[in-house]
Amino acid sequence: MNARSLFAAFALFLAAADGAFAQSYPTRPVTMVVPFAAGGPTDTVARVVAQAMQKSLGQTVVVENRPSAGGILAPEVVKNAKPDGYTILIHHIGMATTPALYRQLRYNPLADFEYIGLINDVPMTLVARANFPAKDFKEFLAYVKANKDKVTYANAGVGAASHLCGMLFMSAIETDLLTVPYKGTAPAMNDLLGGQVDFMCDQTTNTTAQIKAGKVKVYAVTSAKRVASLPEVPTLQELGLKGFEVGIWHGLYAPKGTPKEAIDKLVAALQAALKDADVNKRFAELGATAYPPEKATPAALAAHLKAEIEKWGPIIKKAGVYAD
Ligand code: ASP
Repeated sequence: MNARSLFAAFALFLAAADGAFAQSYPTRPVTMVVPFAAGGPTDTVARVVAQAMQKSLGQTVVVENRPSAGGILAPEVVKNAKPDGYTILIHHIGMATTPALYRQLRYNPLADFEYIGLINDVPMTLVARANFPAKDFKEFLAYVKANKDKVTYANAGVGAASHLCGMLFMSAIETDLLTVPYKGTAPAMNDLLGGQVDFMCDQTTNTTAQIKAGKVKVYAVTSAKRVASLPEVPTLQELGLKGFEVGIWHGLYAPKGTPKEAIDKLVAALQAALKDADVNKRFAELGATAYPPEKATPAALAAHLKAEIEKWGPIIKKAGVYAD
């Protein structure tokens, strides 16, 4: 065999190996890494999506929690994982805010990942412990301002949605409050239920059941419009905080270099999940809205992430919040 035919044979072998990968992937469970504690809002979305995706993938999608304050550990873990399609990351708006919030971040959202697609949008709610001494937002505001040295606000650390919302809220009401960071809002919610902390701003995916059961007080939602599953709760804009709007979006990522064949299958599985009636029913109960399947694409997630980095960078810089 001369050099040219040897090269041709090798190229044929590579093409066949590639084709075989495409046909066979996935041959074992896929791990979906979650940046926050089990039982919290991101975990809840992850489990709904993972369960639906496994129908199309024909393999189990295992949810693995790698919680850390601010959710900055999981992206690093996934960035360093083998890029073979068997490790993926679910993350929220934190992928876009952490580059401005951290002076040293061990991952670059724009360089270290392949994008799979957008998942959903989730509004947030301002909730307090059940015996917080305020029956409505007006009383809440008056109490918080009068007791700013003792009112505690729980969140999941710098980079978490609950932190972002709290930071914007404190700036809107021009009052600094004591923050208590957790590794997710599941443990924060436990302390809110136990009365150890006073209030938090958390996603409807974590608060709806507690609100409906009367276990926490709700004062407002953070979206521009009211949330269909909580129609009686006013928006912060209605309550006088002009322009206040925070919505939390989720996306799916894979380590840079994950083969296109695997990404294509993951995209198809995500799109099928977002069309699934059970998924949409569950999202609606939780106050979340699925993106249309055409947004569950690498291009749509890449464009959204970039736009969100550009949007939040200057807001965060102006607020002067950062971590090391
Ligand atoms: N979504 C986070 C969690 O699952 C918390 C946050 O972002 O505030 O706990």
